[in-house]
Amino acid sequence: MTSTTSNDILSADIEGIVSLFDVTPTDTPTPDDERVAKLAAPKFGTVFTDHMARISWRREDGWIHRRIEKYGPLQLDPATAVLHYAQEVFEGMKAYQHADGTVWTFRPEQNAARMARSAHRLALPALPVDDFVAACAALVRTDRAWVPATPDSSLYLRPFMFASEPFLGVRPADEVEFLVIASPAGAYFSGGVKPVSIWVDAEYHRAGPGGTGSAKCGGNYAASLLPQQEAAAKGFDQVCFLDGGTNTTLEELGGMNVFLVMDDGSVHTPELTGSILEGVTRSSILRLAQDRGRDVVERRIPLTELIEDLRSGRVAEVFACGTAAVITPVGRLAGETFDATIGTGEPGELTMAIREELTAIQYGRTPDRHGWLRRLA
Ligand SMILES: *Cc1c(COP(=O)(O)O)cnc(C)c1O
Repeated sequence: MTSTTSNDILSADIEGIVSLFDVTPTDTPTPDDERVAKLAAPKFGTVFTDHMARISWRREDGWIHRRIEKYGPLQLDPATAVLHYAQEVFEGMKAYQHADGTVWTFRPEQNAARMARSAHRLALPALPVDDFVAACAALVRTDRAWVPATPDSSLYLRPFMFASEPFLGVRPADEVEFLVIASPAGAYFSGGVKPVSIWVDAEYHRAGPGGTGSAKCGGNYAASLLPQQEAAAKGFDQVCFLDGGTNTTLEELGGMNVFLVMDDGSVHTPELTGSILEGVTRSSILRLAQDRGRDVVERRIPLTELIEDLRSGRVAEVFACGTAAVITPVGRLAGETFDATIGTGEPGELTMAIREELTAIQYGRTPDRHGWLRRLA
């Protein structure tokens, strides 16, 4: 059996939209030898492909001018709304090359639907799911040569949308740009998966009740930078935030969801309360854990209970997850009143088994039984 299912190809509707993209090839393509050198060991987020996908929106016209153009700086009026009021949302996905040379992405409709939800919260227009997927496909086909082939590497896709209208008044912009840029990414953990240490922050929040926590917007990330910096100064790799309403229950990291594996084998993660970002990796892991016959529990996880369960050994494994790192084992969890090593401090067994299974699906090494993959090129 191969990884193909009836859902693996893009729909005729999406292919129709791909063909609407005007492709203007760059006049300064990266020479082959330079591209090969850049693909050899790209530092995350620093190398970009030759092109970008772009769709404009005007309140009176809707989404217009689907195009692939040369990657390069955007010229923005200093009064451009996004620079002042942060009306912006984004997504993060990957394109994976399989052993037979085909290129695939993972559950892109989920990212497209999430971007539409994020856009709604930021009073930005919804980009139809098919346009979102078509833009990714058009870009990956144009820059096919930039998809890396080394193990665990991928082409990271960054779709984003921002208020481009030059206007200082406070209201939703009448002009918006949607772009997709692509950045080759090497293995997240070069030299093996290494557990991280996490500071549970009781001082700062990344989001609050009724705020923008469930939207993937730049503003949430801006709010997480200072706590991250202060945790790093204490010697921690990442921050885990508590809920902004009561400051008592576990939410998530600045850009990753969090899971606990209990000593009875059950898998727990904070329930989506409205201030947690609903990760595609999170939902996929819930499914894969269920497939393994594990009890999966989405619930409020009080920090006091977590501390007790860490002390008693009831918590066997902790991991964080997101598209960039897939699954990151957590070896140490600490806060103002506690400091715990999880298990032996080494990656947990289920953590690593699910990580292996999920990446095997993404890279086509195992059957895609849930029909999660879409072929882009
Ligand atoms: C993007 C993101 C995640 C992970 O989402 P995936 O879809 O799994 O990549 C988790 N938390 C936050 C705050 C995020 O922005």
